[in-house]
Amino acid sequence: MMKSTRLFLSPPHMSGREQEYIASAFESNYIAPMGPMVEKFEESICTATHTPHALALSSATAALHLALRVLGITEGDIVLASSFTFIGSISPILYQNATPFFIDSDTTSWNLDPQLLEEAIRKAPKKPKALIVTHLYGQCADLKKISQICDAHGIHLIEDAAESLGASFEGKQSGTFGIFGVYSFNGNKILTTSGGGMLVSPHRDLIDKARFYSTQARDDAPHYEHTEFGYNYRMSNILAAIGVAQMDVLDARIAKRRKIFEWYREELGDVSEISFMPELPNASGNRWLTTLTFEHTNPNALRLLLEEENIESRPLWKPMHLQPLFKHALCIQNGTSQTLFEKGLCLPSGTQMSREEVERVSTLIKKGLK
Ligand SMILES: *Cc1c(COP(=O)(O)O)cnc(C)c1O
Repeated sequence: MMKSTRLFLSPPHMSGREQEYIASAFESNYIAPMGPMVEKFEESICTATHTPHALALSSATAALHLALRVLGITEGDIVLASSFTFIGSISPILYQNATPFFIDSDTTSWNLDPQLLEEAIRKAPKKPKALIVTHLYGQCADLKKISQICDAHGIHLIEDAAESLGASFEGKQSGTFGIFGVYSFNGNKILTTSGGGMLVSPHRDLIDKARFYSTQARDDAPHYEHTEFGYNYRMSNILAAIGVAQMDVLDARIAKRRKIFEWYREELGDVSEISFMPELPNASGNRWLTTLTFEHTNPNALRLLLEEENIESRPLWKPMHLQPLFKHALCIQNGTSQTLFEKGLCLPSGTQMSREEVERVSTLIKKGLK
């Protein structure tokens, strides 16, 4: 088979030890469900993020769903959420028949604007029960202000840290500020198990409850006894084996993503037409994707130009309040995420990229600028 020369946005990058761990899972015949690799993977997340409890699941979307279910979010409840995010962040609200209330971004973090959060709480038709805040592209939202506001109003803080594993705010890991945090191991994330997610919490009882729902809500009996319904959301031992191997290289992957960002900044930083996604002064992101905006140039033209050279790039997330699905949804907007969507582009940022490849992409972009 010919090696593909396409430059992808964020392809999987194996550590080299995955097959070893998979083989050991096969030897023990713990294939699925669960097994010792699942526990190991959960422990490695607890260690890396300094969080006491973790639950390995089939996806981050499933993890968010369980978070809402365990918190008793149900029909008619209002759940505040970042508008500038991926749908996987939001669909769990709909699974619970709850009502999303979208909040726009600020320009200093590109993430949820704390001032608008306060406004949304004031204007909500009834008291919101929870907030799902997303740390986009691996960069933290203003977690200090956001957690203070949630505390003051008795609103559960859930962090969608699907893209921000290893990012920190004032030295504390993203995903560990709220009652629940969620990480994703989907194929394009900074680490991948081919597909998977992790739910973390400082509360053992809540993780125990989520584990109960994740395995069909079986009561304690030798036969199958049910007083509640659950889901089939647990991660298999084989995928967890991949996760254990991936966790060994988390620090190296973050360092490389940040380096790729620095390379792009060296190449494009003094082009006045270009602004990179900012980083809050007290935060350190994982720079999952290098993203930027163009002042006057249409990013779609640049995307097509890169495509001609077999280079993948992508528009920024289209805000939820602009999605046809949420035409009539509650929202507080200030135009920021819409502008970012219209002017922005995600650049190839895979950790196997060389400096030469970053230069190649950058040169094409400079050529394509007006
Ligand atoms: C990838 C992603 C998700 C969903 O993760 P899955 O593991 O694919 O379910 C949710 N939110 C954000 C912001 C993501 O980037």
